[in-house]
Amino acid sequence: MSNTGIIIIGAGQAGAMTAAQLRQLGETGRITLIGDEAHVPYERPPLSKDMLLQPAQTRCAIHPDDFYQQHDITLRLGVAVAEIDLQARTVTLADGEALPYTRLVLATGASARRLPMLDALGAGVHTLRTLDDAAALQGVLQAGRRLILVGAGVIGLELASTAVDLGLRVAVVESAELPMMRATPRLLAEFLCATHRERGVALYMRSSVVAAARTATGLALTLSDGTCLEGDAVVYGIGVVPNTGLAQAAGLAVDNGILTDAQCRTSHPDVYAVGDVAACQAAPGLPPVRRETWENANWQAELAARDILGLPLAQNIVPWYWTDQCGLNIQLAGDMSADRWIVRGALGAGPCLLLGLSGAELVAAITVNQGREMRGAKELIARRACIEPAVLADTQQSLRNLSRALPA
Ligand SMILES: Cc1cc2nc3c(=O)[nH]c(=O)nc-3n(C[C@H](O)[C@H](O)[C@H](O)COP(=O)(O)OP(=O)(O)OC[C@H]3O[C@@H](n4cnc5c(N)ncnc54)[C@H](O)[C@@H]3O)c2cc1C
Repeated sequence: MSNTGIIIIGAGQAGAMTAAQLRQLGETGRITLIGDEAHVPYERPPLSKDMLLQPAQTRCAIHPDDFYQQHDITLRLGVAVAEIDLQARTVTLADGEALPYTRLVLATGASARRLPMLDALGAGVHTLRTLDDAAALQGVLQAGRRLILVGAGVIGLELASTAVDLGLRVAVVESAELPMMRATPRLLAEFLCATHRERGVALYMRSSVVAAARTATGLALTLSDGTCLEGDAVVYGIGVVPNTGLAQAAGLAVDNGILTDAQCRTSHPDVYAVGDVAACQAAPGLPPVRRETWENANWQAELAARDILGLPLAQNIVPWYWTDQCGLNIQLAGDMSADRWIVRGALGAGPCLLLGLSGAELVAAITVNQGREMRGAKELIARRACIEPAVLADTQQSLRNLSRALPA
């Protein structure tokens, strides 16, 4: 595929990594990376953490600023793609310019799901998805202020932790029974709930916002049980919506994400989709899965680049992500719907490891301040290893050694 023009729409994690992978793997033709944000491609994980805690010391660019020039990648920033013409093989920018392509990669990511009732309040209401959102929050998160967070998913909890560290008084409102229930087993969700409460966060579970108003002294939210909370600012994080509009208008197959096969190929042979926007069907008959993680964006970037270049595919990976909150580095890998969990160590008492079994097979692992065990855990999960629960629970056994001891 040399000497062809590859266009990548979306200059976020997946887009920037696709461009880099294409060059690294030998693509010599033109590569154009188009992003509607004005910033050089940046990583989002620091936005809820270090970018708020220590902005001056935090750098979140994905590549050094001169990387794109050095690798002959044309970066078009601050301009959206308005239309794709699959027949003509062109994309049209919002300023009317049309660019031809031979292969197209859609890396348009996702946007914060909106809550019109809160948006209607105007100033003081925030979401967190972009660097500009984080910059706006830096001015809001001042010691002594009252912050209401709506949604106790990963971003809501990370923000709660960050805001407490910065000296704010924090309330969290969540409709589910426990925080982070969508992405973690119950025992971890209970532990996180208790940990945030110990740090002074007021957690309102099984609650939703039924009314919102501006008062003389702040923003007032009325909850479903009648509780009235007042804050100086509200940040809500109630999930994301994949940015599929362009793909849908072009006629690509879309269903809560741009549908792809295991190699990130969409319903059109010239077009790929990667990252948060891609709903990947790993094998025929399996439901499409959309993953919203940093690692998935990097992984799919490599898959798409390899497929475009006709190179063999990299080995499958065990899905993994991390979150940092309350001084804890929590890493999660595999299938969080495991039937039962073995706890190595004790949650809340130093480093701890949770191992999830389905039947006799190891299918998931969670490390709490014990990231060095994650590599071995992933190897065991990839092989769906069957290991005695007593051995898994034994703190003297390194998972890496258990993995090495398995028959080849
Ligand atoms: C605050 C925050 C914290 C996070 N923390 C973690 C973490 O700790 N661990 C973890 O694993 N993951 C974390 N994530 C998730 C991770 O950052 C995402 O999964 C990852 O950024 C997805 O990359 P992407 O390139 O698919 O999408 P994005 O990063 O959203 O990039 C898509 C880009 O495409 C642009 N775009 C969209 N439409 C167009 C168009 N028509 N024309 C041009 N450009 C367009 C968008 O504006 C955006 O810049 C976090 C996310 C957030 C928001």
